[in-house]
Amino acid sequence: MFKKILIANRGEIACRVAATARRMAIRTVAVYSDADAHANHVHACDESVHLGGSAPKDSYLRWEKILEAAKATGAQAVHPGYGFLSENEDFARACAEAGLVFIGPPPSAIQAMGLKAESKQLMEKAGVPLVPGYHGKDQDPELLAREAGRIGYPVLIKASAGGGGKGMRVVEKAADFAAALASCQREAINSFGDDAVLVEKYVQRPRHIEIQVFGDTQGHYVYLFERDCSVQRRHQKVLEEAPAPGMTEAMRREMGEAAVAAARAVKYVGAGTVEFIVEQRGDGTMNFFFMEMNTRLQVEHPVTEAITGLDLVEWQLRVASGEPLPLKQEQLQINGHAIEARICAENPDNNFLPATGTLRVYRKPQATAFQRSRVRIDDGVREGDTISPFYDSMIAKLIVHGSTREEALARLDAALAQTHIVGVATNVQFLRGVLRTDSFAHANLDTALIERERAVLFDREPLGLPLAAASAVVRVLVAERAAAPADPFARRDGWRGFGEYQRRFDFEFRGEERQALLRYKRDGSLWLQVGGVEGPLAFGPLPAGQVELQFDGLRRTLDVYEEGATTHVFAPEGASRIVALDRLAHAGDAHAEGGRLTAPMPGKVVSFAVKAGDKVSRGQALAVMEAMKMEHTIAAPADGTVEELLYLPGDQVAEGAELLRIAA
Ligand code: ADP
Ligand code: ADP
Ligand code: MG
Repeated sequence: MFKKILIANRGEIACRVAATARRMAIRTVAVYSDADAHANHVHACDESVHLGGSAPKDSYLRWEKILEAAKATGAQAVHPGYGFLSENEDFARACAEAGLVFIGPPPSAIQAMGLKAESKQLMEKAGVPLVPGYHGKDQDPELLAREAGRIGYPVLIKASAGGGGKGMRVVEKAADFAAALASCQREAINSFGDDAVLVEKYVQRPRHIEIQVFGDTQGHYVYLFERDCSVQRRHQKVLEEAPAPGMTEAMRREMGEAAVAAARAVKYVGAGTVEFIVEQRGDGTMNFFFMEMNTRLQVEHPVTEAITGLDLVEWQLRVASGEPLPLKQEQLQINGHAIEARICAENPDNNFLPATGTLRVYRKPQATAFQRSRVRIDDGVREGDTISPFYDSMIAKLIVHGSTREEALARLDAALAQTHIVGVATNVQFLRGVLRTDSFAHANLDTALIERERAVLFDREPLGLPLAAASAVVRVLVAERAAAPADPFARRDGWRGFGEYQRRFDFEFRGEERQALLRYKRDGSLWLQVGGVEGPLAFGPLPAGQVELQFDGLRRTLDVYEEGATTHVFAPEGASRIVALDRLAHAGDAHAEGGRLTAPMPGKVVSFAVKAGDKVSRGQALAVMEAMKMEHTIAAPADGTVEELLYLPGDQVAEGAELLRIAA
């Protein structure tokens, strides 16, 4: 076994790998960028080496520098994590040339699976079922259009070199094919430096089911069952679970064996995932087709660990050091059910726009003694850390395990309720919403689930105005009481001694101005009227960060966090934020004022859809920006004429930077 390894990654996955290494008494070397100088993964390792600037190309992608760091620290092997260099065959080869073990498959296997079109040709030979499609070399647009017709619409055009859900276009009819092809090729060349595409049948309401495989250097293979990753947004995974609901023993074996055949065909070594697209047929049966193989440890590997009781990073390390696979196929077993939720810094109600900011509050679910093995949190951040625009938007992964799916689901909902994040927009409440949809609860899974459940998922405030406002009012009263001297006649909180006194609070809630009316009654009690509810309001002694109140017939203890005028309220049923309005200050719309159009987040300008002099109408797409693995379209706030473009495609811009000018 290795004595020391270098972890060529950051964030939760670097921390995850370091944890297993520590348990196995293997020393670890971290690498880091400027932005990560104080990051958790640096502390999680025994030593660390600075790589350079914050952008990945100046740090985590600089492989010469990483190899130097390994040499200088005496590391014997490099774990690439996922993303960055993990699927770069040149890096894997360079490791070998430098006398280092690359903890992953041989470069030839990475290469064989690197391009979707080539890998499909290989899989066809190995007898692995494929989605009907065209994956040849000839890229003549007319040939591709003919092939699309042969396959039958709708079809999916995919960038062969694509990944991360990018470079895909669904085409509904022949008339749209040429334009979709051109736009797909443009995105492919920009994002992956290669415009080759493949065309395949677009499976309707498919499921994404993938198989975890493992191979060793002696040519043994096993499959560690499946994960269902059907719940996606923008072709990216949101929730993952194992086992896949409705999976039969026969189909599991069939898919497992197909995945092993795929791995064997490229002499795979280590951890890999074979992704299948699954067509659900009217009679309840399922057809599965090979989609791609990811030649690395996957983000969602913990659900497999939870149901098998194994540590996949330990397996990776053992296999990479030349040991045989620790277990044979017949020794592997599924135990219970596991679900993972990806907690991301993003704004679900705004098309999942990535968010940046400081984690002012970051409270994780309690891991009580009996739950310890059942709620797992994989993260790479601490309270106070910044979510920067340089890397992807995942803050943490919450993984739960239960004896049944229902139990796991309930546990995940409870764990999400205990996840309190303030300072950065997140998808935590959205995830809870997804768990509660009929589709998810009844395991009616497919990649269109989020779209189908739109009506109950977006623009929702799970905690209503009355409770949010009552919490904010209590917060004010408590602060006033703390500041007021004991003499009741000197108190400023409205106490008068005789007569009733009434006080108005103005709030902003879900983008609307709302009022609460508080009455101080003669007997000293309080009466609150807000959002169509009224009744006595009482509040109790308060531990820091909490509010205990009685209102609307309920006595509740709520977690509250203050951020300037905003009160963030967390309750078991959901969380909301409410802003106390200061009538004097009034914030306008920051992104579109007086003909200026500014970047809603820091990122890269991908393209402009307009040029100076163009007439544009409200809502028209003007520019595309990319940040944190996602593309965002910037639309015109009003009709007008484009005066000037202020950046070029490829430019990095700060949040709030003016992108273009429009005259009314
Ligand atoms: P999974 O491992 O579940 O397939 P993703 O497809 O989201 O998860 O990719 C895993 C990681 O790989 C991401 O977090 C990201 O760091 C990296 N990654 C994958 N594809 C890309 C891409 N096209 N551009 C940049 N990073 C990518
Ligand atoms: P990536 O490399 O970006 O992960 P994949 O080929 O794995 O690309 O596809 C990503 C997602 O796109 C899948 O999980 C699925 O939701 C959807 N998808 C891919 N191929 C098809 C298809 N033929 N029909 C329908 N949906 C598909
Ligand atoms: Mg994929």
